[in-house]
Amino acid sequence: QTASSAIKGAIQLGIGYTVGNLTSKPDRDVLMQDFYVVESVFLPSEGSNLTPAHHYPDFRFKTYAPLAFRYFRELFGIKPDDYLYSLCNEPLIELSNPGASGSLFFVTSDDEFIIKTVQHKEAEFLQKLLPGYYMNLNQNPRTLLPKFYGLYCMQSGGINIRIVVMNNVLPRSMRMHFTYDLKGSTYKRRASRKEREKSNPTFKDLDFLQDMHEGLYFDTETYNALMKTLQRDCRVLESFKIMDYSLLLGIHILDHCLKEKEEDTAQNAPDAKRPGMQKVLYSTAMESIQGPGKSGDGIITENPDTMGGIPAKSHRGEKLLLFMGIIDILQSYRLMKKLEHSWKALVYDGDTVSVHRPSFYADRFLKFMNSRVFKKIQALKASPSKKRCNSIVALKATSQEIVSSISQEWKDEKRDLLTEGQSFSSLDEEALGSRHRPDLVPSTPSLFEAASLTTTISSSSLYVNEQYPHDRTTLYSNRE
Ligand code: ATP
Repeated sequence: QTASSAIKGAIQLGIGYTVGNLTSKPDRDVLMQDFYVVESVFLPSEGSNLTPAHHYPDFRFKTYAPLAFRYFRELFGIKPDDYLYSLCNEPLIELSNPGASGSLFFVTSDDEFIIKTVQHKEAEFLQKLLPGYYMNLNQNPRTLLPKFYGLYCMQSGGINIRIVVMNNVLPRSMRMHFTYDLKGSTYKRRASRKEREKSNPTFKDLDFLQDMHEGLYFDTETYNALMKTLQRDCRVLESFKIMDYSLLLGIHILDHCLKEKEEDTAQNAPDAKRPGMQKVLYSTAMESIQGPGKSGDGIITENPDTMGGIPAKSHRGEKLLLFMGIIDILQSYRLMKKLEHSWKALVYDGDTVSVHRPSFYADRFLKFMNSRVFKKIQALKASPSKKRCNSIVALKATSQEIVSSISQEWKDEKRDLLTEGQSFSSLDEEALGSRHRPDLVPSTPSLFEAASLTTTISSSSLYVNEQYPHDRTTLYSNRE
């Protein structure tokens, strides 16, 4: 506890000093050598003519590539005053949901920035990545890749603590009913019991397949924008030989929200934003796929109530807001990973091990996102369409027509799971027999499992209602 509050204090003092110091440096274009500059200042507890006195042990504060990061913050529309205010003037809140690496996470009171402690190798990797990474950002600011706003190191008593400042993907002011960390792998990708016991657990791929087996639905334009952004991002990551990243996905159910609103007023909400505070560009999920201030037909434009979430629907038709970003990209494909993969591959089916070569990783990640997680809304028949049938024979024919069309959709979706010469029914057997491919578990639909059909007889006519694909069958008529 003491260490954490000392880290917070040192971060605030260090960043306060370095950002303040930068304002005296004239604006100029970023040069290649700016990426490799490291500025260092000593902050003794009794203070010096450059630095204030403080209650923590003496420490040294290093700022990596200060001019380059200043330029990037500008690129994202963050004014120096806002950056200073968010990080240094309000308390930093420690997140109690750290990942397996043991990193500490802090979020600023206004919800804009996340501070993560990183290992030496990760900090080194980010430094190397900077020129190419920001060349990509410059060309294309529509991205779900993490936005890095600063890289710093605190040294005290022989200990180095390196931190990155980046965008916060999950605003605390919006309650996330479900949070997932998705890698597109199914091997050991279920949240631990300890994680599940937390008040806001982060679930994983297998949990998603179980809870949301129908996926999440978007209108065509939003879906295309999202998939295009993810594809471009994965290609960038692949080009840097980066893998093992995740899509952090927060799901807010709007209908739940209405019920909860009165009970839950602002319990977890961050402090109100400072009046007149500049809005941070590109930091919301919607802006990340859509670009700032644009609204294509069919894409719902951002408004304060959505907090930059992407509108979507569940297969039950519930309205959702999705918050997402790619995280944890600083683990380069190093020798350790290669070794880890080769021995794991001997023991398990190599395809499902989460450590794999970058292009395979990117392809599997994308395939999972576009076939299992995100779907176009036309696949979801939100309002059942009625087809009139005047006889039992016509009713049967219509039912079969609907079933076979949905069954075809299902097959198209699953076709890429088949290996050469394999039949659809063998997918079931494989799913039952396989310990390595739990992604195959949703079974091959039999005729009536492919669609949910409701028939009703009304004034001596028969109707067939098409409902959600893949739901269990409800086939009944109220007079037969
Ligand atoms: P692991 O080694 O398990 O991958 P890690 O320590 O490297 O873990 P991350 O995977 O980067 O940590 O993140 C752990 C958790 O912290 C995430 O599941 C998420 O809940 C939260 N988190 C990380 N980055 C962000 C971010 N930019 N915005 C909001 N929450 C974040």
